[in-house]
Amino acid sequence: MDYSQLQKECIACTRCGLCRTRTHVVFGAGPKDAPILFVGEGPGYHEDQEGVPFVGKSGQLLDHYLGAIDLDRSKNVYITNIVKCRPPENRDPMAEESAACLDWLREQFRIIRPRIVVCLGRVAAQQLIGRDFSMTRQHGQFIEKGGVWFTATYHPAALLRAPDKKPEAFEDFIALRTKIRQVCPQAYE
Ligand code: SF4
Repeated sequence: MDYSQLQKECIACTRCGLCRTRTHVVFGAGPKDAPILFVGEGPGYHEDQEGVPFVGKSGQLLDHYLGAIDLDRSKNVYITNIVKCRPPENRDPMAEESAACLDWLREQFRIIRPRIVVCLGRVAAQQLIGRDFSMTRQHGQFIEKGGVWFTATYHPAALLRAPDKKPEAFEDFIALRTKIRQVCPQAYE
């Protein structure tokens, strides 16, 4: 299945109960061959309204960090979420919702073939890096799985609530730039 077909099927998805309360499925955005994949936990209010990941204040903050290390969602970064439909009141996705939705992410992964995956927030990190992942202790660290490097940093919405964490997040992005230069320098060409 190619990207367009996958997107078409995903936006009609009814595999979990979140389909009943969503306005739009937020499939993802960015080049289909981006070497760097960012994964958040799920769409918020503005994303649900627009059908685009990371818009509003969280999105502006993410774009600020991306720009600081010469990344751009229109050039070298693809952005999506663990669940593609907004959990009501922005609660964490339930286990069965994440499980139902992960097949879409697996298919995106198969098509995009990223070299680096950046989890935004605890929910994504615990799904993609490890059940016991601790953001406080492990943010900014890289682990390799099957030739792909995984890391995690604070979710931009969490940084808006706790701005004292912003310097740590910035360090994570600096470490990401170093890793990109090591494993996929073409991202900067
Ligand atoms: S959250 Fe995922 S699995 Fe659930 S309805 Fe939306 S696209 Fe389908």
